[in-house]
Amino acid sequence: MALLNILREGEETLRKKSRPVEVINPRVLRLLDDMKDTLKKAEGVGLAAPQVGVLRRIFIVDTGEKVMEFINPVILQEDGVQVGTEGCLSCPGKYGIVSRPMRTKVKALDRNGNEFVFEGEELISRALCHEYDHLDGILYVDKASEMFSADAREFDD
Ligand code: ZN
Repeated sequence: MALLNILREGEETLRKKSRPVEVINPRVLRLLDDMKDTLKKAEGVGLAAPQVGVLRRIFIVDTGEKVMEFINPVILQEDGVQVGTEGCLSCPGKYGIVSRPMRTKVKALDRNGNEFVFEGEELISRALCHEYDHLDGILYVDKASEMFSADAREFDD
């Protein structure tokens, strides 16, 4: 169990494309456990491996019920549109307005190497797309129609 350092926007690693996981070995399992600890501490919704400096196609998403692990995820289907506020643990203090699918269906491997299909709606759909983008070196700020700071958001509230 360990907390990992979350890379900030501007770090080159965040802009690189991650490679698939070939073998789910103890190192990968350790990474998943550490990512979970890190996400919980940071109070985020999702975290992708490149955000902690590991260029592998892995991300985790907190669905509210549990933290789900996605290894080598593939987006199978996207439906509908939602436009809303989005932030990122790698871009602290900033928020932006981003259009995302209302529903996203993802296929991935779990930590036992078993394939599963998961469909997320609303916030979870947004998180799945956001985390998937990290694996291709894409940050939400690339897609945001409008950006504002956390201070401005608090003021608005
Ligand atoms: Zn992010």
